[in-house]
Amino acid sequence: MLESYSRCWAEIDYDAIGHNVKEIKKLVGETKIMGIVKANAYGHGSVKCAKALEENGVDFFGVSSVDEALELRNAGIESSILILGYTPPEHFHYLHEKKITQSLISLDYAKRLNAYAKEHDVIIHAHCKVDTGMNRTGIQDQDQKKEMDSIIEVFSLTKISVDGMFTHFPVSDDLGEESAAFTKHQIELFNEVVASLKEIGIQPGILHVQNSYGILNYGDLGMDYCRPGLLYMGVTSDDSIPILSQPNFIPVMSLYANVSVVKTIKAGQTVGYGRHFMATKPTKIATISIGYADGLPRLLSNKNHEVLIHGKRCPLVGNICMDQCMVDVTEIEDVKEGDICCLVGRQGDEVVTIDSISRDAHTINNETLSAIAARVPRLDKRG
Ligand SMILES: *Cc1c(COP(=O)(O)O)cnc(C)c1O
Repeated sequence: MLESYSRCWAEIDYDAIGHNVKEIKKLVGETKIMGIVKANAYGHGSVKCAKALEENGVDFFGVSSVDEALELRNAGIESSILILGYTPPEHFHYLHEKKITQSLISLDYAKRLNAYAKEHDVIIHAHCKVDTGMNRTGIQDQDQKKEMDSIIEVFSLTKISVDGMFTHFPVSDDLGEESAAFTKHQIELFNEVVASLKEIGIQPGILHVQNSYGILNYGDLGMDYCRPGLLYMGVTSDDSIPILSQPNFIPVMSLYANVSVVKTIKAGQTVGYGRHFMATKPTKIATISIGYADGLPRLLSNKNHEVLIHGKRCPLVGNICMDQCMVDVTEIEDVKEGDICCLVGRQGDEVVTIDSISRDAHTINNETLSAIAARVPRLDKRG
């Protein structure tokens, strides 16, 4: 049994990451893994996840910002790091000082970075982002020739070493005909850009296109790297979305909170703010020390969302509060202060998933996981 904290805590099974990496490798052939550890590795702890990934052969990380890259560098991580998003000009110096690779998110941006590098007589390492349909960041032009000219211009900037090129899929999770055609078209566009560059003697470097669903539904695309976030954490965005491959992932995060008070209320009495739950018979209520400020979505209120106590399913009742919530434990014997409530994970023979939380909160696991608050301690399951 693990040490437990008095209020609530997340338990992180860093060994499961190794297992999940092996499952990913079965799907992508020779393609290597760039571990996406942005947003504190979706709440799992970016440094510890990066170290667990490194132990399993991962030598490249993706983050969203220079701050996240510095966190890894300051923890002694020497592998390559790609910033997937925007770095403001006042932070450009970190890129060469800390050997961080920057995404070239537009032609103008690449030129600005090149001008900076010229001025300081440094070389900046970068990957060129090609926008093939996401319409977020990346080089895109309705006129294909202009687009190609822009990409060639990026590769010819003298103070930027363009070591790679990538694109991103907006609908790789959807197996529907239209979405599948869209994604396949993106892959074709990307491959055409690669071929055109090679034709004129430009080496595009390391190529990567797949996020988690790109891996699950498109398998081995023969790229150099793939970019899973969720998958190595052992979950998908939504377990009700059909996928083409059926890997055997182990969820890395579990979530627990303590029971603080148990009381019995009479028929007609209500629970919590707004009085939205009213007992129809004598009802035993356990108060749990986790709330929406810990990342338990308030949208779970009044949906009979199930958690586990003593290995048995029991519903949340009433509105979720900021630091607490209440559970109907009428059917469970001997519940007392200090008992452990499992909100995500296994207790006895029962399992509750992050997917059930995301479903009841009308969102996806990406958001639910990354919204687990900083104040929730992360316990290392390896001890
Ligand atoms: C976040 C992100 C990923 C990882 O997405 P998952 O669906 O979690 O695998 C990959 N590539 C880019 C560009 C991203 O922003």
